[in-house]
Amino acid sequence: MPPAPLPIPMPVIRVALDVPLHRQFDYLAPDAQPDDVGRRVRAPFGRGTRIGVITAVLGADEEGDLPLDKLKAAEILRDDVPPLPPDWFRLTEFCSSYYQAPIGEVMLAALPVGLRRTDPPKARAVKAKVKVEAPQVAPELTPGQAEAVAAVLAAGVGTAPRFAPFLLYGITGSGKTEVYLRLVEAALAGGHQALLLVPEINLTPQLEERVRRRFPGVGLVSLHSELTEAARTRHWKAAFKGEARIVLGTRLSIFTPLPDLGLIVVDEEHDPSFKQQDGMRYSARDVAVFRAWQRGVPIVLGSATPSLETWANATGEGIPRRYTLLTLVDRANAAASLPPVRLLDTRREKLQDGLSAALLAALQVRLERGEQSLVFLNRRGYAPVLACPSCGWISRCRRCAANLVLHLADRRLRCHHCGFENGIPRACPSCGNQDIHPFGRGTQRLETTLQERFPEARILRVDRDSAKSRKQWEALAEKIHAGEADILVGTQMLAKGHDFPRLTLVGVTGADAALFAADWRAPERLFAQLMQVGGRAGRAELPGEVLIQTEHPEHPLYGALQQHDFAAFAASQLEERRSAGFPPYSYQVMLRAEAPEMGPALEYLAQARALGADLNGNGPVLLYDPVPMRMARRANLERAQLLAESTSRPALQAFLAEWRPLLEGIKAPSRLRWHLEVDPLEF
Ligand code: ADP
Ligand code: ZN
Ligand code: ZN
Repeated sequence: MPPAPLPIPMPVIRVALDVPLHRQFDYLAPDAQPDDVGRRVRAPFGRGTRIGVITAVLGADEEGDLPLDKLKAAEILRDDVPPLPPDWFRLTEFCSSYYQAPIGEVMLAALPVGLRRTDPPKARAVKAKVKVEAPQVAPELTPGQAEAVAAVLAAGVGTAPRFAPFLLYGITGSGKTEVYLRLVEAALAGGHQALLLVPEINLTPQLEERVRRRFPGVGLVSLHSELTEAARTRHWKAAFKGEARIVLGTRLSIFTPLPDLGLIVVDEEHDPSFKQQDGMRYSARDVAVFRAWQRGVPIVLGSATPSLETWANATGEGIPRRYTLLTLVDRANAAASLPPVRLLDTRREKLQDGLSAALLAALQVRLERGEQSLVFLNRRGYAPVLACPSCGWISRCRRCAANLVLHLADRRLRCHHCGFENGIPRACPSCGNQDIHPFGRGTQRLETTLQERFPEARILRVDRDSAKSRKQWEALAEKIHAGEADILVGTQMLAKGHDFPRLTLVGVTGADAALFAADWRAPERLFAQLMQVGGRAGRAELPGEVLIQTEHPEHPLYGALQQHDFAAFAASQLEERRSAGFPPYSYQVMLRAEAPEMGPALEYLAQARALGADLNGNGPVLLYDPVPMRMARRANLERAQLLAESTSRPALQAFLAEWRPLLEGIKAPSRLRWHLEVDPLEF
């Protein structure tokens, strides 16, 4: 029998530590006060020390989990960071329970790195940056914008805010950002803070600029991964202390404690980068909705191509309507109309290096007129694979079930999944044949092809290879703006954020692949991408045109795109999902296991399934068979997954709460890793 716990005569604190365990730890802290809950501590753990967060100060009559003489002492950090507030605790506790992530991991991940280090660099005390510029005047709202603004204001922005979720649906250029700015203005006027979430801040420096110019003199901080550790900590503190009134950030910023929060905006709410793909796999968009509810404030989700979950919530297609739908129909700038979309049927045409005669002719016309064109291909590198026609050898990654992509620019073969790379062999490694070829095409090859076709043209490639950092991307964008490029070649990176006034032609190549992908979310993503990239054409006085090369011109997705009819596309997709029982008509959790061999991974999942089946009885959760993942091997690990599904979210949550502890008890080889992903986006 373990010894009975002793009553505690001196303060003991309970601490959440960043460890992958669903428990907290007690420490002695002689100087602890009840109001130290929410402060950080430096605590001994294992052979080192860690930073933790105090979740409770135990009174003299409360029982700790160890006898006192077994407890170690921790040092409470009484620095300039105030104790984290109760609503922040509720937020992190919600995430811990909803995503089945250990509370300590959630809490510590929610803090800026600078506050998680045991040896923090000396911080300079700096106020939130206030740059004063030539203020920008707000334009008069269009009737559609005015209506949208009024609807959200009616939820008490700046006065007495209450929880009210809105979907602001409007094509690129319809004036959504202007609506956000008016709402922010109202929130600020009422003494509230506004939180603006954007998918990738390195692609949207324009927004930051625009917000600064609209609100000169107002404390604004950005929070994203490209800031230095010190800057991020400083910005976070400014937000927490209420000095910053506007917070513009990527997904992590949803966890910033904001004392005066009065409005949340999630721009491009459909964007997959709101989803965290490792650690706690959360959706910042969904957490934002919870946060708005918890704090009782309005939230606006904005998009030209809303996620189908959000669309269903706003239209009530097959589920209860939870959000108010606000629609902006026209482009705010009346001169800029939506570009016509033309499908180029490539079935009967012999393409010239992947380009149709019609697209080449259209590019030629733009060159003659001195206008810009964009050729979209969502695949970087020179070619997706190098192959030997004589023996069938292809360049495969040794560590993944994937091909090595040929990068001619720096003469490498590179795996886009694990980062493995190699030089380019002179001859086939298998048969010695010297005549090995690249197959298929990526942006680098397209760039080369176009340069050969149009030797006079200035061609600029924009993808993650040419724009690795925000700085590089900004430099490229500046060049484009200055008219220093005639033809842009790029991936979806080009589709986001920027207005290029002289761009009048968008050519789309290689889009068909996503039409028949095994991933049932692929059409949703493709439609969003094509709408976005198409929206780049003709935003100012010059009318634009979108040309899509396809072998499936009759496909309904392209039809909807031609009509600019997101609603029709969404309705047909939702109908399919409804009959297949996919989200949003069901809720899903993925259990994944990875190990050096596939056998143990599948075995682990089989045991998990058996335990789950016992728990569930004939209950509301459907457990599928464990299967290898589509890309089964990555970085030398075999990966398998098991899907759990239910039509009831509460039932699934209740099931998970019981299932997860059982999963921890399954005996597995030491090199096996597993995780749960709630509301998975990828299969
Ligand atoms: P979105 O965020 O939907 O892409 P924006 O708010 O960026 O749209 O607006 C697109 C363009 O129209 C911008 O150049 C913006 O300055 C301009 N604009 C927005 N609202 C108005 C308005 N009411 N009157 C005139 N121009 C406007
Ligand atoms: Zn060969
Ligand atoms: Zn690899």
